[in-house]
Amino acid sequence: MISARLTSSALRLLFLALLVAAASIVPDRPGLIRPAGGVVAFVGGTLIDGTGAEPVLGCTVLIEDERIIAVGAKVEIPEGAEVIDVSGHTLVPGLIDMHGHLFTNLGGNFENEMVPFARLYLAGGVTTIFTAGEEFPDEVLSFRDAQREGLEIGTRIYSAGPYFDHADGVGPGGTLDGAESARAMFEEWGGKIDGVKVYMGITPEEFSAVAERAHAAGLTVTGHLGSLTASKAIELGIDRLEHGLYAMSEFGSPSSSNPFGLEFMQGIADIDFDSAPGKSLIEQVVENGVVLDPTTVTLESLFGGPLQLTNWRQYLTPNALKANDQMIRALGAMRARMAPAEEWSDLVERVLEKQRELIIRVHAKGGKVVAGTDPVFVDILPGYGLHREVEHFVLAGMTELEAIRACTLDAAESLGLEKELGSIEVGKYADLVVLEGNPADDITALGGTKIVCQAGARFSPEELRESVIGAIE
Ligand SMILES: [Zn+2]
Repeated sequence: MISARLTSSALRLLFLALLVAAASIVPDRPGLIRPAGGVVAFVGGTLIDGTGAEPVLGCTVLIEDERIIAVGAKVEIPEGAEVIDVSGHTLVPGLIDMHGHLFTNLGGNFENEMVPFARLYLAGGVTTIFTAGEEFPDEVLSFRDAQREGLEIGTRIYSAGPYFDHADGVGPGGTLDGAESARAMFEEWGGKIDGVKVYMGITPEEFSAVAERAHAAGLTVTGHLGSLTASKAIELGIDRLEHGLYAMSEFGSPSSSNPFGLEFMQGIADIDFDSAPGKSLIEQVVENGVVLDPTTVTLESLFGGPLQLTNWRQYLTPNALKANDQMIRALGAMRARMAPAEEWSDLVERVLEKQRELIIRVHAKGGKVVAGTDPVFVDILPGYGLHREVEHFVLAGMTELEAIRACTLDAAESLGLEKELGSIEVGKYADLVVLEGNPADDITALGGTKIVCQAGARFSPEELRESVIGAIE
């Protein structure tokens, strides 16, 4: 008896020890309200499904584990389902930022911000990003893989890995030096990345070599162009164009020492889209199905200084804030040397207006425009920046529902992920955002995230944000 009792208590201890061990490897998941599992019904909300269809009032979205299993005004709720009343709120698909990054530029230094950025994106309802070039590609790819194994939380990451550029390029630098090296660089990274990002210095031969391999591997190619005009890159088979007019060198190029030379900006402001080069470029974009990712918000930050989208400063350490503020002041002084403040702000407004004209002209002709933010300056705060980018689409003349589609289903399509992501439809991943207001009436309501659901797991935006206060360093 005694020995039996000893055995059973020894087993109990062993069991407890195993529990403790299991608990210690369970990752820290701040902001997680409930992991995916079981049947959950979001009831009574207004549905905007991401396809561009009119909102449906009093809608039920039923999810099971990671997927959406029913959507509609007359869905029967199975017994035992967890019911979440979202009446008075709006449901939209998880947003997709097509030009995300997990690093930022703090006072001229590139810093790795994977954890805070991944959580801030998610808190802003951005359930998926495509990182258009990474300063720390190995770290980001490991983080992405850890996330796929459930060990890290945050926005779902598709990554372009490193920039395909020359070692001495203006940007972070790749390893290109001729077509052969371009093939070698793709050989090294192609199996690990989710798409290719080419950068400012790439030559036509290198571009063709990379694009041929990438397309054969089923990957898309996007670019921040400089050496190639947009028109040339389209001829060579590019899939997406980043930054709109800022990176279409047929209209002029920024100098590497001054990203916003007055002449360059003047040139953009004076583009005439009814003239032959403007007209033919828009036709070429649309006819070739090339996707425009204008990142208007980047221009707004770069040209105008801090965007003040939110209280972004609270997320930075005091040192990071200092470095950032010094850089912003230096950029401001550079602008002040070029033109008086009033003249400068008029010019910035004309440049933004021209960028919005590009957006609406491509859109009106049936071309595809997606939303990206490029948070290389920290005031384009992950999550928040996308809400502002989409606001530019509405200012350009898209309807609110078209603008929402641009940052959901259109984005998923441009990555070839439309069967899994991008809309609230049966069979897709349960990526949805519960909003306080209705963005079909006022697009800025996209910023009012109350609950974020990513593949069926539910998160509190507030707690996600709280978890990264002072974490950007
Ligand atoms: Zn970028």
